[in-house]
Amino acid sequence: MEALQCPVCGGIKLALAILETEGDEVKTGAILCESCHRWYPIINSIPHMLTDELRGSEDALFIRENQSKFDKMSLQERPPIFQRM
Ligand SMILES: [Zn+2]
Repeated sequence: MEALQCPVCGGIKLALAILETEGDEVKTGAILCESCHRWYPIINSIPHMLTDELRGSEDALFIRENQSKFDKMSLQERPPIFQRM
């Protein structure tokens, strides 16, 4: 994670939302750039850090598949779903 950088703004202040783990790895989650507030999905333990032009249907699918988990987290009305890395 420490090598990751936001591909759009170059920000290195990233936060992590863990939706599902597998062993020590985050299998499903999201990375939030604290500089430009974009988020990037982690799918099957691989962070998908793409620029806006390259994003599309994959994001929609990710949101649809994980909507219930995001809802659950937002219902708790607290921000620590995003842990500072
Ligand atoms: Zn950014």
